[in-house]
Amino acid sequence: MLLVKNLKKNYGHIKAVDGISFEIRKGEIVGLLGPNGAGKSTTISMISTLFKPSGGQILFENKDIVKNPRAIQPFLGYIPQEIALYDTLSGYDNLKYFGGLYGLKGNNLKYQIDKISEVIGIKDRLKDRVSTYSGGMKRRINIGAGLLHNPKLVIMDEPTVGIDPQSRNHILETVRSLKDTGVSVLYTTHYMEEVEAVCEKIYIMDKGIIIAGGSKESLIENSGIKSSIKLKFEKRISSNLDVIKSIDFVKDISMISENELLVASGGNGDSHKDIIKKVMELNFGLLSFDILSPNLEMVFLNITGRELRD
Ligand code: ATP
Repeated sequence: MLLVKNLKKNYGHIKAVDGISFEIRKGEIVGLLGPNGAGKSTTISMISTLFKPSGGQILFENKDIVKNPRAIQPFLGYIPQEIALYDTLSGYDNLKYFGGLYGLKGNNLKYQIDKISEVIGIKDRLKDRVSTYSGGMKRRINIGAGLLHNPKLVIMDEPTVGIDPQSRNHILETVRSLKDTGVSVLYTTHYMEEVEAVCEKIYIMDKGIIIAGGSKESLIENSGIKSSIKLKFEKRISSNLDVIKSIDFVKDISMISENELLVASGGNGDSHKDIIKKVMELNFGLLSFDILSPNLEMVFLNITGRELRD
């Protein structure tokens, strides 16, 4: 449905997006994960036809949308990071206004508002003024506004930043329900847990390029990380990091706090046990350990040597 080929965007000498390629199929939820400044917003702004690329191609249903933005615009639901609602109007009137911008009117508009307010879970507060809503409820109306015209592709730019857990869960639920109706979603975030929860395919972006892509399982498999171990010590551990890093099967280490470490373990089977044994023998004052399954945070750390939320 959407094919991005060698896409580039320069701002002067800054290569914000530096030759990325990826695909989104019908009904697929694709996550674009990366730290601040990775180039996620620039990428989705180009797909949403807000910015012109400096190079490369974007095809929507085989049509070049850089040359012909109208080929995607009516089928696109772009949900920006900033909430743009009329505070003095009710949620219903806001949706009515945005639906009007998409050319919806009369019974069709009413039907769509009814349907979408169900999807975003805000039906019982729809007649209240937006000024009385929580941040999360405003965000849900914002999402609803982008769904009224039945888009085929929905692009969400970090939709859960700074909102309450209940709204966050609702937004993730909304994303899943879009998939059930055959809608494709491109979901950008720097929250690893969210892409793990909803995305079937994940592209990890850093400094303008895609550094890894695939399902969560394949990303973890390809990283070679088998498990990770959280180690807690009696005192500061920073001066002993190199010794721990040189233990067999240790792929990476990152500091959680001054006396806590996360150690990514490669090797097969029980190598985490060997690592723990070696750490105990070093007498650095190990207080406790926890064995965890590998996650995308560790994959990112493994590829870049940095943490996702640096
Ligand atoms: P965030 O999560 O902070 O939104 P991001 O992954 O969306 O980050 P972008 O906003 O696309 O990243 O930024 C990519 C790079 O391009 C950054 O180095 C940023 O400083 C730079 N950049 C973005 N917009 C502009 C602009 N209008 N002019 C100059 N540089 C820009």
